[in-house]
Amino acid sequence: MRWKKDDLTGWGGVLHREAELARPERLAALAAVLKANPCPAIGARLSYGDAPLAAKAVDMTRLDRFISFDEKTGLLDAEAGVTIGDILATFGPKGWMPAVMPGTGHATLGGAIANDVHGKNHHLAGSFGQHVESIALMAPDGTGQRISLKSKPKLFRATIGGLGQTGVIVSARIHLAKCPAGHMAVQERRMEDLDAFLEAFNQSRADYQVGWLDMTAGGINLGRGILEEAHFADGPFEAARKPRSVPFNLPGFAMARPLVKVFNWFYMRRVPEAGRDVQRPLQKFFFPLDNISHWNRLYGKRGFHQFQCVLPDEHAPATLNLMLEAVVASGLASPLSVLKRMGHGRAGMLSFPMEGFTLAIDIVNKPSAKALLARLNELAKNAGGRVYLAKDSSLEPAYLPDMYNELEDFRSEANKADPERVFETDLAKRLNIRGQA
Ligand SMILES: Cc1cc2nc3c(=O)[nH]c(=O)nc-3n(C[C@H](O)[C@H](O)[C@H](O)COP(=O)(O)OP(=O)(O)OC[C@H]3O[C@@H](n4cnc5c(N)ncnc54)[C@H](O)[C@@H]3O)c2cc1C
Repeated sequence: MRWKKDDLTGWGGVLHREAELARPERLAALAAVLKANPCPAIGARLSYGDAPLAAKAVDMTRLDRFISFDEKTGLLDAEAGVTIGDILATFGPKGWMPAVMPGTGHATLGGAIANDVHGKNHHLAGSFGQHVESIALMAPDGTGQRISLKSKPKLFRATIGGLGQTGVIVSARIHLAKCPAGHMAVQERRMEDLDAFLEAFNQSRADYQVGWLDMTAGGINLGRGILEEAHFADGPFEAARKPRSVPFNLPGFAMARPLVKVFNWFYMRRVPEAGRDVQRPLQKFFFPLDNISHWNRLYGKRGFHQFQCVLPDEHAPATLNLMLEAVVASGLASPLSVLKRMGHGRAGMLSFPMEGFTLAIDIVNKPSAKALLARLNELAKNAGGRVYLAKDSSLEPAYLPDMYNELEDFRSEANKADPERVFETDLAKRLNIRGQA
């Protein structure tokens, strides 16, 4: 297998490294690569920080075949490089879809399991890993085994959300959910401030919920934004449109505070004061940002961080207030800031979800971002919350045991499965996820 040199970076573009990549297309080639050069697997590199970075890595995106599908039960067996968008596009018209979908359809099945991703229906459907029946996992020496909650409960729970630290996810059997229609009926309402937002989330009975926040608004408007509540609506299944593209890195002023403010002003007023009902094809509703490929270039060469945390209900209102004040005062926020309700569903020892509210904010990578991120991480920790490792580029390693209370069990399983630590990524090393050797 040929190894190719590449400049590896996560979606945020802040953390980089020179790396050698192997891109096997067949199982036998994957096993041979691991045997000769054991190293971590990566997917489409849509994690924002250094989760998909390592000196050597196996790119799994060409192992992307569907293996089998049972039309009666919805059980799908697929290779790890298949994307969530592929699954929706292929099985949606047959009446099935992934039960949980992140905000991009380009994430691979392996990446979705390794981060135990969540979607806009987390409060009802839980996390992605809760719909995984079994996983074909490859050890550092290229040997494989099939694991499930029944056969190997600890290894299975360490693998889901386990950031690739227990082995290479070669393929997985997942339960698809019924896909009743090709469109979503979306109700959009303006929220005047944070209290109104949280109250509306608490009252909402919608199957899918997501909130957009205007992070340029302070004072009495702090936390204003738009709440989207959605359910399936009649309408044919439409193929995804060809995306428009941001052709090159934009200059630094593209995300300057005055421009973001103007953009947000118009974005907020897109929805009339009385609210509105719209219908959207599934792809457009679930993966709104996939309509513009390379949208991360809007931030220019310096890139951006994404901070995402989840806060337990009892501390969420006060802590969100403090976080929003800090971000608004910093002037570093971009138009992409999201608030969501989470249920308690999580499938792995290192899974992110927790019952409460999750806040995700894109932060322009300027020198002052460091202090802001440190403040946000500290607020999340003090509130008993968690930072999402799929997005992280700045967490204090010392916060990890407080945020992830099954960390010791995880370490023990991962270190058993990979005693030489060949699957450690840059993120795993930076945060000492595997513990002392
Ligand atoms: C626009 C956008 C919207 C997003 N919205 C959401 C959202 O709503 N909810 C959410 O939860 N996440 C969201 N994300 C994050 C994204 O879904 C996750 O980071 C996901 O894991 C990315 O998948 P990937 O294939 O790119 O994996 P990568 O980023 O390449 O890898 C992620 C991790 O998985 C490991 N890994 C990947 N493949 C394998 C494998 N085959 N075997 C073992 N380990 C493997 C890697 O080592 C790494 O640790 C979003 C990201 C973007 C860019």
